[in-house]
Amino acid sequence: MRRSTATTEMGHNAQRDIAIVGGGIGGLTAALAFARQGAKVTVFEQADALTEVGAGLQITPNGARALNALGVERALDASGITAQAVAPMDALSGKEITRFDLSGQTPSYRFYHRATLIDVLARACEAARVTVRLGARIDALSPNGSFVLGGDKISPDLTIGADGLHSVARGVINTPTEPFFTGQIAWRAMVKADNAEPIAQVWMAPGRHLVTYPLAGGRLNIVAVQERGDWVAEGWHHSDDPGNLRQAFADCNWAVKGILGEVETVNVWGLFRHPVAAKWHTGSVAILGDAAHPTLPFLAQGANLAIEDAFVLARSCDAAADLGQALATYQSRRRARVVKAIEAANKNAKNYHLGGVQRRVAHAGLKAMGKMAPDAFLNRLGWLYDHDVTA
Ligand SMILES: Cc1cc2nc3c(=O)[nH]c(=O)nc-3n(C[C@H](O)[C@H](O)[C@H](O)COP(=O)(O)OP(=O)(O)OC[C@H]3O[C@@H](n4cnc5c(N)ncnc54)[C@H](O)[C@@H]3O)c2cc1C
Repeated sequence: MRRSTATTEMGHNAQRDIAIVGGGIGGLTAALAFARQGAKVTVFEQADALTEVGAGLQITPNGARALNALGVERALDASGITAQAVAPMDALSGKEITRFDLSGQTPSYRFYHRATLIDVLARACEAARVTVRLGARIDALSPNGSFVLGGDKISPDLTIGADGLHSVARGVINTPTEPFFTGQIAWRAMVKADNAEPIAQVWMAPGRHLVTYPLAGGRLNIVAVQERGDWVAEGWHHSDDPGNLRQAFADCNWAVKGILGEVETVNVWGLFRHPVAAKWHTGSVAILGDAAHPTLPFLAQGANLAIEDAFVLARSCDAAADLGQALATYQSRRRARVVKAIEAANKNAKNYHLGGVQRRVAHAGLKAMGKMAPDAFLNRLGWLYDHDVTA
């Protein structure tokens, strides 16, 4: 238990010693949230540096609201690209089907390089006196949250598993579950693009799609997905021949082929579905982000949900003297929303990959919506983007 001179106005976190396993977006957001409430926070990250894979990330207003409330608004404003619109595209003809305006979102919908977001969070954590231990892989946790590192036994008040897809912490709380292959593989790549419009383009073709958006520094982020019977391993670090990516979109319009023609290096991985964890906590261990609920990338919400989790977890703990009760509140505030977001992401893949008549009808529907009810697109996502975990 942390000794503190906390006054009665301070919340309960000011008395607590918090260990966070994993220094990704979810872990660093949690570290910042707890540290802002006066907790003593240590992050244990297996990698030798706090960094991220070379890829982009869309931070939607719901995630931005939580980050802003943690005091990183100015740094975020300075480092992302504000999205003006999302444009569904016909990848075969190269034509824009319609365009839905995102410019009126408050806070803004933005595109970031992952490493930039990590850097903003890491600096804020440092200023908030979070201790970060690098090269610190935690291989086993006990249900009471204690673990051993380099011969030392560490016994915090609360251990948070923000350790991603292959979480050690999830296994302490839940019986193991098997992920299943979705029949889709994904590539990610980045190319130079000096004057790309600040919009996300979703290029749709039968059985495939491609999402592109610009990043600061004149780059274009690419995520491409193809339905396939065979699969490659799950994980972000498997490289592939760019020729395979180009081949998958070889019948598409020159606009798509032009973008893919610039790709020099590419990573590939299989998209798997993991069930949302049934339990997100024991009395002194909690999980968040991908550790609790890995998400397919078709709604750009995995990191946004991890950020929301982190905020709600810190706030629930700060409000309650009893950690068990706080953690139960955390799960009950988060689980239904997370399940809804994951189901919406799963549906998107199907809609992007339509063929034949269904594809023509869907594109005509999008076009009509863009002309006659342009707000309908955002209204349908109001439950997602307008949600305010800080309220
Ligand atoms: C192609 C693609 C595009 C995406 N685009 C978006 C998007 O636009 N918007 C969005 O919101 N989400 C997006 N996501 C999802 C998002 O990337 C993840 O949901 C998010 O990064 C999860 O964050 P996390 O902190 O929970 O886990 P992670 O980012 O996986 O971080 C886990 C951290 O824990 C560390 N770690 C793991 N095990 C241990 C251990 N045993 N000991 C110590 N450290 C450990 C890891 O090294 C890592 O640093 C996308 C995902 C994909 C695949």
